[in-house]
Amino acid sequence: MERPRPSVDNLYGLLMEPVAVAPDRPAVVEADDKGVLHETSYRRLDLLTQEYAAALDGLGLDVGDRVIVEADTSAASVAMLLACSMLGLPFVTVSPQTPDTRLQTIVSAVEPALHARADSLAPRERVEVEGSAHFGPDGLVVERAPARRVRRRRNVLATDTAYIVFTSGSTGRPKGVVMSHRSIVTFLRAMRTDELAGPGDRVAGTSPLQFDFALFGIGVALSSGATLVPVRREDLSSPRRMIGFLRDAEVTQVHGVPSLWRPVLRHDPDLLKELEPLRSVVFAGEEFPIPELRRLQEMLPGVRVVNGYGATESMAASFTDVPDPLPAGLERLSIGYAHAGAEMTLVDGRGAIVTEPGQTGEIYLRSPALFTGYWNDPEATAAVLVPDPADPRHGQKVFKTGDLARLGAQGDLSFVGRSDYQVQIHGNRVELGEIESTLTRLPRVTAAAVTLVPRSGDHVLTAAVVLDGPGDIDTRAALAFCAQQLPAYMVPRSIHTLAELPLTVNGKVDRALLTEKLASPRRTSDLRHATNA
Ligand code: ADP
Repeated sequence: MERPRPSVDNLYGLLMEPVAVAPDRPAVVEADDKGVLHETSYRRLDLLTQEYAAALDGLGLDVGDRVIVEADTSAASVAMLLACSMLGLPFVTVSPQTPDTRLQTIVSAVEPALHARADSLAPRERVEVEGSAHFGPDGLVVERAPARRVRRRRNVLATDTAYIVFTSGSTGRPKGVVMSHRSIVTFLRAMRTDELAGPGDRVAGTSPLQFDFALFGIGVALSSGATLVPVRREDLSSPRRMIGFLRDAEVTQVHGVPSLWRPVLRHDPDLLKELEPLRSVVFAGEEFPIPELRRLQEMLPGVRVVNGYGATESMAASFTDVPDPLPAGLERLSIGYAHAGAEMTLVDGRGAIVTEPGQTGEIYLRSPALFTGYWNDPEATAAVLVPDPADPRHGQKVFKTGDLARLGAQGDLSFVGRSDYQVQIHGNRVELGEIESTLTRLPRVTAAAVTLVPRSGDHVLTAAVVLDGPGDIDTRAALAFCAQQLPAYMVPRSIHTLAELPLTVNGKVDRALLTEKLASPRRTSDLRHATNA
């Protein structure tokens, strides 16, 4: 049968729209091994995509067959994702740093037809996938062809799966989030309506390709006719390299998790003044500690800082400008209102919609850009894709996010924390985030994380703080401050000074690892040692 064709609302179609209007505009600007910048025009990116698609088509895969794409973000990997989209082959992105065991778990779950890796990567001897190939600027080279399928499909539909992203597990055990073309295309059109980026932008992506924040950067840049500027991992290794690269690539918008900015703010904040063309910074993935955010704003005067809130299950839910300057005494950042075409509703513990300003509830997201479900996990899917609490009779499903927020006077929301950061201590309900925000009001503290650590048959509140320079926190003074500000049951039992909070592969605070380390004091000193290195 002939090659399956993308019909309406396909990721390839949306991202390659600029080919018709501005084919010579740079789609991707990236550094080679020697750090020299190279441009790939929209026309060239499309040609590479067509070339990969022809090679993939030659394998005789059917719509819906999964392809693992192992790479960093580059013109070639973007073309590979687009070629998969065009043929209706859901892509599953994996970073080169992914350990074999994690990759094997993903492979066992999604049973891919093909593992396509970037040219520069060695084959994974220990991971078994039916087909294997590598790709780069010279094309796709098939090493082991998968068995040919019977093709049952002619058209790639908007409801077909575009990709499956496995979450890092900061929100529970890793889940395979299945996104359709319709959802991702609808989401990216909303970004255009909200004017997050425009054709003149050069958008730097800093997240690993397995994190949907990287897909967000690719999607926002190309669907806006802008230029994507992937930042290589080695260029993130030191503040000087990172800022040097962003400056030389004349980046106007940077995407990254809050921890992206921590080293430069700590060691060399003046470097930030070199980012002359920078207009906006979009952060997402977790809360930005307020002292660090203030510092970033001071060092980047006039730069718009945008708080992107959301989960992989809808790519993102809202984008809110951080007020500049941040009001004194601010405890919680606003996550504002949902992006164009979506809505966030707060629901209280009894299932009623929160309408009183000042009250807290769980965020339910109503959006045409929701995920289809968790891969092969109908139970987990049903637990979060639930009937609309406003009126379940419509049969419409909304996404129960697991995040708590407070309703503002104008209907805007302030992020409070995940519902699983709400713990019970001797019968009292405690928000770990509230203790963390109290700790960040102490002088010299730039970031804090609080966890419940098992100790002698009980669980005790244990805090970790990061300071603005060398030295340890004055624990006695810090505990006295907490005792003044918080009820006694919310005062941490102990406070540890760390050089850095442990991070997940996606750059978020790794609370599970932190709890493990704080549970054993010897390992806490290991951690300090390791993160000082
Ligand atoms: P994982 O972290 O497991 O890979 P996700 O990236 O989907 O999974 O994590 C989504 C969660 O991250 C949200 O539900 C929320 O708790 C948190 N989050 C994302 N953006 C923000 C933000 N701007 N402020 C606070 N929390 C955020």
